[in-house]
Amino acid sequence: MIYFDNSATTKMDEDVIKSYNEINEEFFANPSSMHKFGYIVEEKVKNATHNIASLLNAEASEIIWTSGATESNNFAIREICETYKRSGGHIITTEIEHSSVSNVFKYLETQGFTVTYLKVDSRGQVDLKQLEESIRDDTILVSIMFVNNEIGAVEDLKTIGEIIKNKNKKTFFHTDAVQGFAKYKIDVKKCNVDLLSISSHKFNGPKGAGLLYKNKNLRITPLIYGGGQQLGLRSGTLNVGGIIGTSIAAKKIYDDFDDIVDRLINIRNHMIDRLSELNKEYGNIKINTEKNELFAPHIVSASFSGIRAEVMLHALEEYEIYVSSGSACSTHDKKKSGTLSAINLPNNFLESTIRFSFGKYNTIDEVDIAIDKLKIIIPKYRIK
Ligand code: PMP
Repeated sequence: MIYFDNSATTKMDEDVIKSYNEINEEFFANPSSMHKFGYIVEEKVKNATHNIASLLNAEASEIIWTSGATESNNFAIREICETYKRSGGHIITTEIEHSSVSNVFKYLETQGFTVTYLKVDSRGQVDLKQLEESIRDDTILVSIMFVNNEIGAVEDLKTIGEIIKNKNKKTFFHTDAVQGFAKYKIDVKKCNVDLLSISSHKFNGPKGAGLLYKNKNLRITPLIYGGGQQLGLRSGTLNVGGIIGTSIAAKKIYDDFDDIVDRLINIRNHMIDRLSELNKEYGNIKINTEKNELFAPHIVSASFSGIRAEVMLHALEEYEIYVSSGSACSTHDKKKSGTLSAINLPNNFLESTIRFSFGKYNTIDEVDIAIDKLKIIIPKYRIK
């Protein structure tokens, strides 16, 4: 099997599986319990929280564990709007966000908030001039993703943070960093980020776990009321296996960071080179990702005009090569992809776009095998 769908999810790291089992077999106490057994587990959770916080240049008290980034995004955006609605009703996001952000903004529009949707250029870069011009006295939140999940476009968080805070110090900055964490070293303080969402299963951690970084000076209302865990902001018994697994998965990547990222970049660049060769041979293949720092190390988006994405996906699946059409997250939503429309991809390419996404277990050889299969698939399935 060749698994090129790491932006949808990743294989759990073996050490994470080991620790997950160990927690459930040996350290299964509730970390909120008053007895010694609970205390031992609570210490493990504290360590994991501290580890993750230090990777972001944050403090442990600024980490809220969640069930994943869909929850983190909902939490950040809804609760900022709930808490600060009296200060202003204007919020800003982009045209290329993941549905767990864009659908929250759509909901908030129905609740009376005014939303500005920032445009992006053909490479998915947010229009920074429009951002600056859009921030008003009553703008309470800007939410801009770090790395786009469909084409891999990387937004300049540091410049965006400066623009926001220079224009209005009271405007909060949230970023969905799901596809950027563990591919880039993120410093929340340097980037002026107030809230940041992370999902564990995107970097070889467990599913059903994630977190929200929240600047400690920022007051927000709870998402989930209950027993008062996590400073009362997100009640519920902690997902201990998920939390510790997240910390281990992140540590494994950070211990070997430059090597892992360099390997991903090599794989991405090789894929782009080989797809360019295919384009010379067959024509009408558009590569939506470039070999430069405007794009993330692990995503290649390519459109094969004349072959619908689903057809290509299933043709590759015949060879046990797994990819996504556009973005796996939007497959329940039959509409055209927001990102691909926003970068103005011509119509013939819109419905024929495939996302190859790489992880730490992939190799260059796998790219060559996939290209060999594409040489069989393209002439066979292409509608003239
Ligand atoms: N944001 C982005 C950019 C994503 O790629 C995803 C996962 N597809 C999410 C949010 C949602 O993350 P989770 O699966 O943890 O809910």
